[in-house]
Amino acid sequence: MLIKNYMEEAVQNTMDEILAHREDICKCERCLMDIKALALNHLPPKYVVTRKGYVYTKVNELINQFRADITVAVTRAIRVVREKPRHGEEA
Ligand SMILES: [Zn+2]
Repeated sequence: MLIKNYMEEAVQNTMDEILAHREDICKCERCLMDIKALALNHLPPKYVVTRKGYVYTKVNELINQFRADITVAVTRAIRVVREKPRHGEEA
């Protein structure tokens, strides 16, 4: 069994959608993780216990329920990271 924060999957899916249309953003691992962490800090965690680790329908339910909040959080996080990317830093 696993405990999983489905908000993380919901943010990842939303990020993928938004970033697919944005050519102005660095998509290195560091910047993508910074965007994800920043967005998640502004959203409520949604923990579920699961056997498989990923349930597609649950992620979609969550995205539908929180679409506006997730979009705002991801868009803000993108702006922050674009203005001050940390891919040159050590930590
Ligand atoms: Zn970068």
